[in-house]
Amino acid sequence: MSEDLLLSQAQHEEDNGNWKEAANLYTKCKHFKEAIDVYGKKGVLDSILNILKILNKEQHTEEINLCIKYFKEMNHHSYAKQAILKLGDIKSLVGLHIEFHQWGEALQQIKTTPQFADRVYLPYADWLADNDKFDQAQEAYKKAKKPELALRIVEFLTKNSVIEKRFRDAAKYFFILACEYLRLVKDSENPDKEDAKNLKKYEENSTKAEIYHAYNYVHRLIEDPYHSMVHGALINETIFNASRFLVNSIGSLSLPGINKVYIYYALSLLGSKFEAYRAARYGYEKLQTLKISPEWQEEIDLASLKVRCKPFSDKESHQPVCNRCMNINSIINQNGDYCTACGHPFVRNFIGFDTLPLVEFTPENRIPKAKVIDLLKEEPDDDGRSMNKPSPKKQPSADGWKEDIYGEEQMLRFDQPTNDDGENDMFTIRMLEWLETQITADSYRPIEVDEQILKSLRYSEIFVVDLTHVCPNYPIRYFRNVIPDVSIGL
Ligand SMILES: [Zn+2]
Repeated sequence: MSEDLLLSQAQHEEDNGNWKEAANLYTKCKHFKEAIDVYGKKGVLDSILNILKILNKEQHTEEINLCIKYFKEMNHHSYAKQAILKLGDIKSLVGLHIEFHQWGEALQQIKTTPQFADRVYLPYADWLADNDKFDQAQEAYKKAKKPELALRIVEFLTKNSVIEKRFRDAAKYFFILACEYLRLVKDSENPDKEDAKNLKKYEENSTKAEIYHAYNYVHRLIEDPYHSMVHGALINETIFNASRFLVNSIGSLSLPGINKVYIYYALSLLGSKFEAYRAARYGYEKLQTLKISPEWQEEIDLASLKVRCKPFSDKESHQPVCNRCMNINSIINQNGDYCTACGHPFVRNFIGFDTLPLVEFTPENRIPKAKVIDLLKEEPDDDGRSMNKPSPKKQPSADGWKEDIYGEEQMLRFDQPTNDDGENDMFTIRMLEWLETQITADSYRPIEVDEQILKSLRYSEIFVVDLTHVCPNYPIRYFRNVIPDVSIGL
């Protein structure tokens, strides 16, 4: 039968509703478009796929595109993918994966064709955000080079966790926020206006991260007293320390979700329990200035009266001793969480909120930054730890700190910073010199040390806070553990 005859028969069959015969005839006389249309209108995708198999890119671009149209209309990702692959059109393939939310395939595809990454990440991030997968969305926005959207997501997450009183999450998000702002800083040493703004945001958000982390403990004490009952003394001490940290750090800040009544209540309740009566009285006095629910008022009034009968002092073991100037601080310093005598910040362990025996130092400016760690890693010479004469390597326990046992409490007290031979080590000598030049706590600066001192330090006693992976020239902070017996895991 001639092709013309076949074609007219096909049209005849189609007009009479015999679509299968019509499509067969169209295929036979290689009128693929018509055949595809007939199958397409009936939604018979397998038959279209069969036709696709005999098509080729060189002669049948239009036909293949028609197949793709029907596959997409019928939401058949895998057939559409086969058709697009036949055209070898990777851009359209990526588009297809995006349209069908086939993110696994899209991400796989951009591994081999990274030029399409930008096309994928933004819709991927939007999709994640629409599906409440905010953590992943934030990462995807960053990859899509949309840091402002990533930031907006974290801000949203932060706000939500505060509203929902998930304070541990809030702390985590504030920390992420802080890092994101720091990441935007181009030059932290010579900040322009924009850099200064972002540095400030970094600092504010880091502080908030710490505050919400601490507040999480206090909040649980009040809202979930069963938790502290079950976990007993250890968790109570942590909450007490957290409340002290909060009172010192929060100052006049008013932060959403944070109830100061809870903080002062925890300080007072646990202060009384741990014989820190002065701190407890401070807390009760503060509570008098705040609005308290009537059912608490009576309890607080009674407890406040009771604590007035106790000595106006805090048990010595709770008073933080500054590791730098040895000053015994009072539990509360409303101006901040630092030593009132020398201004050294209290470095807290954020698990138990107790202060760590760390003293901050900074290498002299003329020492190249890259060299500092090498110098610290150098093992001290035999005489490296002492100024005047060779002495055997000092044992970690002999740093001049004495451990006293008061009942069951352990207390560390600095008597005289000496080594085994009764001599101060180089770092300690420098520390004492440095303190002599300092006038007030306000003029606090980390102890500046030279190469010799860096070499004399044991690397295992050094803690480094290095954020250069976030902001390349952000100053690195160095601390020495002056009581190496206390092992510190960070
Ligand atoms: Zn001090």
